[in-house]
Amino acid sequence: MTAIKYELIKTCKQTGARLGRVTTPHGSFETPVFMPVGTLATVKTMAPEELKDLGANIILSNTYHLWLRPGEDIVEEAGGLHQFMNWDGSILTDSGGFQVFSLSDMRKIEEEGVHFRNHLSGEKLFLSPEGAMQIQNSLGSDIMMAFDECPPYPATYDYMKSSVERTSRWAERCLEAHQKPEQQGLFGIVQGGEYEELRKQSAQDLLSLDFPGYAIGGLSVGEPKDVMNRVLEFTTPLLPNEKPRYLMGVGSPDSLVDGAIRGVDMFDCVLPTRIARNGTCMTSNGRLVVRNAKYARDFTPLDENCDCYTCRNYTKAYIRHLIKTNETLGIRLTTYHNLYFLVKLMSDVREAIREDRLGDFRDHF
Ligand SMILES: [Zn+2]
Repeated sequence: MTAIKYELIKTCKQTGARLGRVTTPHGSFETPVFMPVGTLATVKTMAPEELKDLGANIILSNTYHLWLRPGEDIVEEAGGLHQFMNWDGSILTDSGGFQVFSLSDMRKIEEEGVHFRNHLSGEKLFLSPEGAMQIQNSLGSDIMMAFDECPPYPATYDYMKSSVERTSRWAERCLEAHQKPEQQGLFGIVQGGEYEELRKQSAQDLLSLDFPGYAIGGLSVGEPKDVMNRVLEFTTPLLPNEKPRYLMGVGSPDSLVDGAIRGVDMFDCVLPTRIARNGTCMTSNGRLVVRNAKYARDFTPLDENCDCYTCRNYTKAYIRHLIKTNETLGIRLTTYHNLYFLVKLMSDVREAIREDRLGDFRDHF
């Protein structure tokens, strides 16, 4: 009995994009899906009811951050992450690997794991595949991620090859250390950078371990967009049809559509919530910086084509005023709008797949 089920509903005849359904112990949702990021067990400024209201069924939380604060033992004592934060939908946790590699400059990678310093206190820490599993088991997320190395872009072929091999050995250790496979599904992460041969090797290694889902890691780390699309083109066909595919850290509107076209089912990114906090909004006409002076007397919504709570009730002039005066309602309204925008975009993408017209949708986007 596995914790995660995937059903492929339909493939778009025009593009090959997949319409599917993922079921976790906390409900089910259609894919392609965008997952809002709640780093510290909160999607910044949003109450769980608001996330539900804007259409989110699954959110992501960060193992590394929760390990440091408040500590996974406290979350476990509260009854797990769902209980702790009052979210009854699905939760995916990352492995902590990405933060160890991106936040910490004092790190040393060994076969056993990674030594590094806490980015807040400077304290020496160590994270291993077994540690990452123990923390995620305590958090109780529905989907856990294997502990991998996420090398920077660009990396040499030789470095990437040894990294891919280590990530495969770590994946095997993760599978062995995972204590609750009936309640939490563990995804493997395909690495290999821009090298087709290494992506093949990585996929082969991980598929032999039979994870309930697979992520594509090591993208959206500074490579040009055409490199990402090319890597997706040769990587998604390596993954099994009957399991979900998750592209980590991708969240610009055009990348979501490009990823779906190339067979990706799940996405996450801090982009919509991060830019919302400095007053930048995603709209059907591109990015809009509502702080700008030209909106001081603009009494129209952020996006004329959006029917979210923010756009139905508030004007650019008002939101600009709130953000300029550091009123917290301002960033709540922009956060709500940006998340709604991406969740709605994915719902439009699913509709286009259902009707075999995602290619046309992309051309008009
Ligand atoms: Zn809106």
